[in-house]
Amino acid sequence: MEIFRTVAELREWSRRQRKDGGNGIGPSIGLVPTMGALHAGHVSLIRASRASCRFTVLSLFVNPTQFGPKEDFARYPRAFEADCALARDAGVDALFAPSVEEMYPAGAATIVDVGDLGSRLDGQSRPGHFRGVATVVAKLLIAAEPDRAFFGQKDAAQVAVIRRMAGDLRFATEIVVCPTVRDADGLALSSRNAYLSPAARAQALVLSRAVRRAEELVAQGERRASALIAAAREVFAAEPAVRVEYAEVVDWATLEPVEIATPGTLFAVAAWVGATRLIDNAVLR
Ligand code: AMP
Repeated sequence: MEIFRTVAELREWSRRQRKDGGNGIGPSIGLVPTMGALHAGHVSLIRASRASCRFTVLSLFVNPTQFGPKEDFARYPRAFEADCALARDAGVDALFAPSVEEMYPAGAATIVDVGDLGSRLDGQSRPGHFRGVATVVAKLLIAAEPDRAFFGQKDAAQVAVIRRMAGDLRFATEIVVCPTVRDADGLALSSRNAYLSPAARAQALVLSRAVRRAEELVAQGERRASALIAAAREVFAAEPAVRVEYAEVVDWATLEPVEIATPGTLFAVAAWVGATRLIDNAVLR
């Protein structure tokens, strides 16, 4: 596994693989962007990339511009050595681990803003978050020039933002979305789960329970967003230590609330378990 620290090195490698390593059939380069502290959810994206691309690039970058001033940038889990070992074992071909200065050269002023989309769902309470996400993912796509880039449905609003950004800017990269990986008890895997005490982790299960409740109701024929939200809030009410930030039924492309769920509608929740903010969702079928 190669390790690159600069955009120039990564771009040179990517172009060389495409030219020398390819037989011209199928996608050459798959990119898996992450902030590190890798877990099985990240590994599922690596697997998906390896299953359809000849070479897989994993990026590890805790992106400062997607954190608010009072958020957890400084204490976000960082585990470079363990991440390298895990990436190598998972069959990653190139690991891209740039410095903040490499991704944001001194005086960098250019940002990517997805408009209204950036202020919906998580963007409501995290102003500027999706601008930071769109900006860094655009930079990664420009650096790696991948045929495909792989993202988790776990961060469903992020998926909507990235799809919009990649479409608006006419990136040639295909955006691929992979299912949420969960622990056996239902908790969606997240690097932030490392913040949870055993008691808090047990409380955090209320997020997946609320999402599952909405899915059950849809399976029984319920379509009204108000009923799905009310049922999910009832599930949350049984765990008063957890503070709900939002429970919404939205169109997955625009992130605008809908009154009636249709196939492909997103049911999404965010909630605070102590000082830890967690999210979960389901695409309603
Ligand atoms: P992060 O390192 O948290 O920024 O996540 C990097 C990528 O992994 C994003 O595309 C996430 O959506 C994805 N991801 C995170 N958690 C999971 C999970 N539990 N299942 C699937 N993908 C995930």
